[in-house]
Amino acid sequence: CGQCTLVCPVGALIETPHWHEVLHTLDARRRVCAVQVAPATRVAISEEFGLKPGTVSTGRMINALRQLGFDYVFDSNFGADLTIMEEGTELLSRVGGKRSLPLFTSCCPAWVNWVEIQRPELLAHLSTSKSPQQMHGALTKRGPFAGTLGPAFAEGSDEPYVVSVMPCTAKKDEAVRPGMSDDIDHVLTTRELARMIRARGIAFGALPEDGSFDDPLGESTGAGQIFGASGGVMEAIARAISHLIGADHSPPIEWQELRGVNEGIKTAEIDGIGRVAVCNGIAAAQRLLQTATWRDEYVAIEVMACVGGCLGGGGEPKSLDPHILEKRMHAIYAIDQNAPRRRSFENEAVQQLYATELQAPNSPAARHLLHTSYAARHSRRSLLMRFLDAVDRRDA
Ligand code: SF4
Repeated sequence: CGQCTLVCPVGALIETPHWHEVLHTLDARRRVCAVQVAPATRVAISEEFGLKPGTVSTGRMINALRQLGFDYVFDSNFGADLTIMEEGTELLSRVGGKRSLPLFTSCCPAWVNWVEIQRPELLAHLSTSKSPQQMHGALTKRGPFAGTLGPAFAEGSDEPYVVSVMPCTAKKDEAVRPGMSDDIDHVLTTRELARMIRARGIAFGALPEDGSFDDPLGESTGAGQIFGASGGVMEAIARAISHLIGADHSPPIEWQELRGVNEGIKTAEIDGIGRVAVCNGIAAAQRLLQTATWRDEYVAIEVMACVGGCLGGGGEPKSLDPHILEKRMHAIYAIDQNAPRRRSFENEAVQQLYATELQAPNSPAARHLLHTSYAARHSRRSLLMRFLDAVDRRDA
């Protein structure tokens, strides 16, 4: 993907295929197999099978995943709702303590890699909350529901085999990061899922549209769904913040000023915390960081490396349609608009998780399972340049 080539210095821009291994594991039937699906995938997968761009294929896709052999089909949006509870609480704590502000979102691994490699002095600003993919994977493997997923993980492993389907090649890299490599077994892109469906001869377009996610890790709100679009994470935070503060007023559900795939930098004022910004693409983030005022002007900044957010990710179907991002974006907001619950704290399975296991967002138990850390590092290219410099100096 053109965007990822610009921003992804870790080799994750090259799509390393894993779908053969996943099919092999499914066919072997030796472990309970669970899959989670990102919000952008359920829209873009339609294009792989000749359906109109912007067609929502959630039910068909779930039925295809069950035919492929997955025992459980979960929704990454559950992880997104959880991310909002953790990241929103983290933001409030930083605002209260006046430290490491503005907070940068961290659910885009290409952006995290960029900070670690290009601007390590900004590491303290990154939210320590894991991305939805990683939170969901950690819960599926080691959370309180893991033991209920079935008796069949007897042979060889006491953990379910966990796959995620993402719009993103960089998510493959995220899943093997230090400290998070136990959360997910394999990451597939939307395109790889389409290859698997074709390889098994499943007539995707003819599948019934009635498939539904498994509970409890399949429950989600509209706020989780909009993570797939640029501005979605910040809008989801904006919907939840007054609840997290304990204020008695409800903020608006829809934040039009944070939406759109064409604007580079979008801003809004959130009651109770202050001004926030959304950087639509890594170039927009670079522009914002060149301004003299970004540290003082904003309390939180969302950065998604791909223009449009994940709906423009490098693992999505290629398209020559110049309006493809808008079409996918409208589909994502339509799913949100029709959702019975649209704010992350309304997710009953998330509430239940806190009530029974995690106590509260950012509690020690939540931090253990749902947070991570970052460190300065070098890209392969910079390591090569340093090596060549050293050789030059030695030979001089
Ligand atoms: Fe991946 Fe989304 Fe980041 Fe693009 S914006 S690199 S698709 S996480």
